[in-house]
Amino acid sequence: MLTDRHSSPRHRWLRAIASGTLAAALMAATLFAPPSSGQAEPSPWRAVAGTDPAPFTAADANTQDTLNELKATLPAGWQSRLAEVKAAAPSVPSEWTEIRDEAIDPSDYVCTSTALRDWLADRIADVDPGVLATLSELGVLDYPAFDALLFETSATPQFFGRDGEFSKVIKENMLDLRRFWDIRSHDIQLVAMHGAMLQDRDRLIRLVAFLFEVDEATAAQLADQITELLASDPDLEKGLNPLFTFNAFAFTGEGDPDPVFSSLPDKIIMGDGIMEGMRALGLRPVAPQAILAHEFGHHIQFEGDLFDSPLTGPEATRRTELMADAFSTYFLAHPRGQAMNRNRLLAATQTFFEVGDCAFTSNNHHGTPLQRQRSAAWAADVANTVRPRGLVLPSLEFAERFDAKLPELVAPDV
Ligand SMILES: [Zn+2]
Repeated sequence: MLTDRHSSPRHRWLRAIASGTLAAALMAATLFAPPSSGQAEPSPWRAVAGTDPAPFTAADANTQDTLNELKATLPAGWQSRLAEVKAAAPSVPSEWTEIRDEAIDPSDYVCTSTALRDWLADRIADVDPGVLATLSELGVLDYPAFDALLFETSATPQFFGRDGEFSKVIKENMLDLRRFWDIRSHDIQLVAMHGAMLQDRDRLIRLVAFLFEVDEATAAQLADQITELLASDPDLEKGLNPLFTFNAFAFTGEGDPDPVFSSLPDKIIMGDGIMEGMRALGLRPVAPQAILAHEFGHHIQFEGDLFDSPLTGPEATRRTELMADAFSTYFLAHPRGQAMNRNRLLAATQTFFEVGDCAFTSNNHHGTPLQRQRSAAWAADVANTVRPRGLVLPSLEFAERFDAKLPELVAPDV
């Protein structure tokens, strides 16, 4: 539906924010149509009787007070407002956020444990499950992602990792990826996602106002209550815990019916938490490179309309995810890409292994660990055997070769 994107209330609101006038933005926010009576976001917690952590319930009396105040401040219909924003940004939930959601709710485990999920689960093991459930319900686990998506641009100098420890590798690889692949990529903005956003009161207020469509005073109140909650347990590190930035994704606004999102530039967003997890597993610096190249692979897919295939549901998702893995490994292995040796490539493959899942019937199925490993191994082989040596296949030709190979890559093990 093509409405006049420049005059929609949400868009006016966003432009007002961009021009730095929060008060004007909040006035524009009040022009929003009331939320539709759409379905509320289903609870992220699996309905397993007796095992669900209850949101807005804390073991500690002080924290319970904070939760009660928070609940009282939330506007009526907040769940559907949040669900509406989430639905407009389908790239925010990713393979990484699935691992994250499993880590915070063990009853949600669908596959054998992987080291990455266990590492994250360990980082939050002592946090009150009711607090985690509340943060998840309120979407706080995605606030740094939404902030980066809506407001962060490459016009502001970007650094990667909590202290910039991944800046060099990420920035250099992005330049190499732009040179390596034949797509138009200069307009893809590379931006970072930091937990420190949750410690910045103005940014938190701006985002809360956007998500819940509330006035400035209410947004400030909500932001302060969320800040209090984030300080209620030292393990949450006031938002710096990797839980809040455990994501990396590719975004394009093209075709998004929401004018706010369709007017945003193409982006690749890299979260500190996911890179920190990979480093803890000993996969530095290869894993951040592999993830970045995988997300770049999704942009090749956006650009080349590669999301269309005769496949549907979980099989369609599995195909595009395995293909992105293959784009990534091809670049990492290729003599004109990163020319990685066998050992480093194995580490890259391990990165994809960590996100392989067993949710065969889920629409978010990304391929099993073994299928992801096979795709990566196949791509490395193509990179190393292509003749003449040094030839980089056009991206569409590489995708065609991948599609021809796919039935073999996903064949059941014998
Ligand atoms: Zn992906």
